[in-house]
Amino acid sequence: MSTDFTFRTGDIECTVVRYGESAGPPAYLFPDAPAGERDAACARHLIDGTNLGLVYSSLLLRRGEQVVVVDAGPGGSHDALGDALGATGVEPDSVQHVILSHAHPDHVGGLIAGRDKSQPRFSRADHHLLTDEWNHWMESDGGGPMTPQTRAFLEPIGAAGLVEAHDDEVEILPGVVLVPTPGHTPGHLSVIVRDRGETLVYLGDVVTHSVMVEHPGWYSVFDTIPNTAASTRRRLIQTAEETGAVVVASHIPTPGRIVPDPESGHAFASLEPHNHG
Ligand SMILES: [Zn+2]
Repeated sequence: MSTDFTFRTGDIECTVVRYGESAGPPAYLFPDAPAGERDAACARHLIDGTNLGLVYSSLLLRRGEQVVVVDAGPGGSHDALGDALGATGVEPDSVQHVILSHAHPDHVGGLIAGRDKSQPRFSRADHHLLTDEWNHWMESDGGGPMTPQTRAFLEPIGAAGLVEAHDDEVEILPGVVLVPTPGHTPGHLSVIVRDRGETLVYLGDVVTHSVMVEHPGWYSVFDTIPNTAASTRRRLIQTAEETGAVVVASHIPTPGRIVPDPESGHAFASLEPHNHG
């Protein structure tokens, strides 16, 4: 099964790598949303009459021989990241930059390799993340029950001296800017890519389901700091609409754009029909 999706931002080839999918009822995903409003808004998004669909995905950026890995997916036996990299002809050892939106296990599991899953997979890459995110997982137990799992993925990267922790917004390559977007986790970042007048915004988990574009004030059950997550969400949605950017969110099935919506203000418009298969 290949449901990867490729498009261009200027001269940069962008490939959304798909790892798998899951589903959950609106009341679980958005526990704080007013029930009536939530059920009405989610009704047309349900995939089976009961649940909202989520996917697990990440992004590859490629310009010539240079490949940037943006989030590494959950890892595990189905190596979609390896397959997608293989299609570019670039070996993991040749990847120079890995960007981590945040360190939840479904975004960093693919960072490690080796028979005992203890070696950095991208052994020569700078692994970019925000200092706040590194500290959240490695220097406090703020990550709760996920902490041991996340540490197992991050520690080999740290031990190999591959971590590039940033305190603030930074342009790591021409046109590739990391922007702090805290809330989902304390050190969450998003990626803004600009090339030849075109813009891509990788939201990461700023928006975990497209219905949140219509209702940015709802909290996702996965948001660590709900109030901050909501204000970040409003800001990024605004940026994406103003720039006409293509947006990619880790858990939304397809890339899309943020468009004006007469009822809610903003809505997510998919670039292709939804494909939940
Ligand atoms: Zn996630």
